[in-house]
Amino acid sequence: MHESCGVFGVYAPGEDVARLTFFALFALQHRGQESAGIATTDGKKLQVHAKMGLVSQVFDEDSLSHLTGNIAIGHNRYSTRGSSRVTNVQPIVVGEGKAAIAISHNGNIINAEHLYKELSDQGYTFHTSTDTEVIANLILSSPEKDWVSKIRYAMHRLQGAYSLTIMTNHNLLGVRDPLGIRPLCLGAINGGWVIASESCALDHIGAKFVREIEPGEIVSVTGNGVDSYQGEGSKRALCIFEYIYFARPDSVINGRLLYSARQAMGAGLAEEHPVDADFVMGVPDSATAAGIGYAHKSGIPVGEGLLKNRYVGRTFIEPDQRIRDLGVKLKFNPLPQMLEGKRLVVVDDSIVRGTTTPKVIGLLRRAGVKEVHMRVCAPPIRYPCFFGVDMATRRELIAAQKSVAEVRDYIGADSLGYLSVDGLIKAVALPKDIFCLACFTGDYPIPVQLEMDKLALETTPFEEYSPFGIKRR
Ligand code: SF4
Repeated sequence: MHESCGVFGVYAPGEDVARLTFFALFALQHRGQESAGIATTDGKKLQVHAKMGLVSQVFDEDSLSHLTGNIAIGHNRYSTRGSSRVTNVQPIVVGEGKAAIAISHNGNIINAEHLYKELSDQGYTFHTSTDTEVIANLILSSPEKDWVSKIRYAMHRLQGAYSLTIMTNHNLLGVRDPLGIRPLCLGAINGGWVIASESCALDHIGAKFVREIEPGEIVSVTGNGVDSYQGEGSKRALCIFEYIYFARPDSVINGRLLYSARQAMGAGLAEEHPVDADFVMGVPDSATAAGIGYAHKSGIPVGEGLLKNRYVGRTFIEPDQRIRDLGVKLKFNPLPQMLEGKRLVVVDDSIVRGTTTPKVIGLLRRAGVKEVHMRVCAPPIRYPCFFGVDMATRRELIAAQKSVAEVRDYIGADSLGYLSVDGLIKAVALPKDIFCLACFTGDYPIPVQLEMDKLALETTPFEEYSPFGIKRR
């Protein structure tokens, strides 16, 4: 499961804004690894450097030295809408002269196709296949005079998830959709201001967290400071997966440290699904904290049973067939001496299609594990996401097709327990009504029926076999 992107922006005259953005993108690398980009302005023109690859592959001293100015925005991309190709890298610049803007987007616009058609009919041209360019052209198409009013005009037309950083020749703007589906926060640095997807980006550049940007809010930073324009609606729908998996454990969202929330999810699993076992491990890295939480609550010793190669998949060198056949072994290496003969509790963040979990369990069994008791922080995912999470179609979601007992058999575990929705909310320790829980409940915060119908036509049948043929013992 992948999230769509990380966004960043900085307004800091006198600072090396490109370098600050580079290090902030480094901290947000987990949100997207396909491409990275930075745009800056010196007040006269917008400059961009954006390419396919990791932040460290895209930038060097030379490229950063050409990105001068007082304002910068940056982007890490994982493509959910618009294919993965070089023309779709962000930030993108749209418009010319005084009307030019650079924009970085995290999220997914549900009515992008409709708006694309409408704008094309009006004569707007598109150079990418991203919904980000639709947002940018919609802003430019507004009859309003100032940037905040233009953005407000676009917000009235956009449906879906968007956390944006936008740069004009004189402004840095941060925008969050009215439901607040994706996070966005404001920070301060040396008399300047920063906007980022997650607070961990602020920590890495020595900025101070100021506050969350509220759902529906536009923040405009100029030489006069920060102006805030609040949204109208009161409905909230922050993606709960930010707490389960997407955001870094050292980030804080709505005052809750992600690491603590994940530990509490593990503790909740121990309460809801206790089992006699010798050893607990979280699947690294995303479920490490939850594994520790399970162990503390249950009193079962915790340790590492799988080591993760953190750099796998972060290369553009294609593996040959022999390497590809190693599959999950490329990513995880088991520690047989830790595992042999043990009754093991394995805590993971989620099971989506059910393609990786049987392979992980297969690895553990071959390393000599006696029993595998799978515990999962996310409740069963039965509905697809339309808000920027590249999850699966409904027919690909294993929990939409099978009962818990059938999933247990399919993944080859001795027992399987999912955290309940109420248990998840208790672990996050924030009001339930601020969250989107649609992939568990099917209760979407905005109508998505049209998209659902389209997806139903596009899906392929769910494959009724276990990739490793592992049977439950
Ligand atoms: S449907 Fe699920 S993954 Fe998508 S925004 Fe809602 S909670 Fe997040």
